[in-house]
Amino acid sequence: MTATIHPRSRKVRVLATLGPASSTPEMIAKLFAAGADAFRVNMSHGDQASKIPVIEAIRGLEKSLGRPTTILADLQGPKLRVGRFAEGKVMLETGSVFTLDRDDIEGDATRVQLPHREIFAAIEPGARLLLDDGKLVLHVIEHDADRIVTRVTVGGALSNSKGLNVPDVVLPLAALTPKDISDMAFALEQGVDWVAMSFVQRPEDLAEGRKLIGGRAALLAKIEKPSAVARLEEIVEGCDGVMVARGDLGVELPPEAVPPLQKRIVETARRLGRPVVVATQMLESMITSPSPTRAEVSDVATAVYDGADAIMLSAESAAGAWPIESVAMMNSIATSVELDPAHGDRVHFTITKPDPTTADALAEAAKGIARTVSAKAIICFTASGSTARRIARERPSVPMLVLTPEISTARKLGLLWGVHAVHTRDVDSFEDMVAKAKRMALRHNIAAAGDRVIICAGVPFKTPGSTNVLHVVSLTGDELKGYRGNEG
Ligand code: PGA
Ligand code: MN
Repeated sequence: MTATIHPRSRKVRVLATLGPASSTPEMIAKLFAAGADAFRVNMSHGDQASKIPVIEAIRGLEKSLGRPTTILADLQGPKLRVGRFAEGKVMLETGSVFTLDRDDIEGDATRVQLPHREIFAAIEPGARLLLDDGKLVLHVIEHDADRIVTRVTVGGALSNSKGLNVPDVVLPLAALTPKDISDMAFALEQGVDWVAMSFVQRPEDLAEGRKLIGGRAALLAKIEKPSAVARLEEIVEGCDGVMVARGDLGVELPPEAVPPLQKRIVETARRLGRPVVVATQMLESMITSPSPTRAEVSDVATAVYDGADAIMLSAESAAGAWPIESVAMMNSIATSVELDPAHGDRVHFTITKPDPTTADALAEAAKGIARTVSAKAIICFTASGSTARRIARERPSVPMLVLTPEISTARKLGLLWGVHAVHTRDVDSFEDMVAKAKRMALRHNIAAAGDRVIICAGVPFKTPGSTNVLHVVSLTGDELKGYRGNEG
């Protein structure tokens, strides 16, 4: 890994979902070149076997670029669906009575099967059932163990296997379906870096996911249920990162509830030091059009001004007609916002008071010193990545070069704001650390002769959780001279 690598100057990360429009090695390389920093593999679509070449292609790209790539496997979660109809599709009239039951018989305009036993006991009279992304609304009149009788309050066409959202009650559903458990085992076997859980309702759901992951990947919680919002702090604390999953969130709650929640979720995640992804419909019109609406551009910009760690593309990059253009557009919007002189101040509207720990004291100081002495970068040595997470949480104005001997750490950090992670050998001494930091700053074009950089590390080396050194050094530009090593 000796090639000179140009880190992106952009701080917010772009997470691109891969799908039929973007799964070949050529397309993945083009998406990276256009600005994608991390890739989402969506387990809701396609079978496991179809993901193997995709994951191989991402790791192939990693090898050819000589820099870590990040893969997020997104589990479908307990997504509810109605059964099938004899005619494939029916028309539910507003005001009519419609029943959901447990009979495995094709439905009609009066009833359909609901193949989720748990809902029959948990549902309550008056609760809403939302069908097909909330396009149809049913209100529960009465229910027993085998059927739910409803009034259609917003009618419309309903076809086979359409999705069902039940926002008004906490459902006693397992957080991970048998499909999720199988998909998770598969994803871990494939060595993904992050696993996302969908429709998380309670902190216990995350504990269950974490147990199965067993430390092999980081855990991301998708916030898309009102019940998760109700216990947001605990849920954010229980995971390694969160997603503002605006698609389902805007079905379970009125769409106008989503923007204030987006701010709150981003703020909570930043305060608690968890990376946060803003997702769904960010450039929706680019699924079919080569240019976005002005409103979409503004939406992406808002997420960047709010200081989200990552912004995500869904169908735009997975199944649309303009995947590369969508990534390039996100990159342009993010770059434009970050070049705005007001961006730094706006990002710090969210106050992230340091915890009373040495690591946080140093993270906060590193940001301040960088500003005071106009340092060009913060260079951080870490094994677990926790020091890097605490520094990224401070949203420093300069790039962070994170040096880690753990490839899994380097890959996971690809979702974090402002982090350029490099997989490299560990250092043994203070002198070694300083020399290496200087060399890597030059090699990765993060600083030049005459620049100052800040080094952050733990001494003694190779002891986890010991960040206790901040060191400011100046580069002469001669640091690479005579060095014959190969260090990433
Ligand atoms: P999905 O999650 O794309 O897997 O549904 C994101 C969302 O709901 O916004
Ligand atoms: Mn969703």
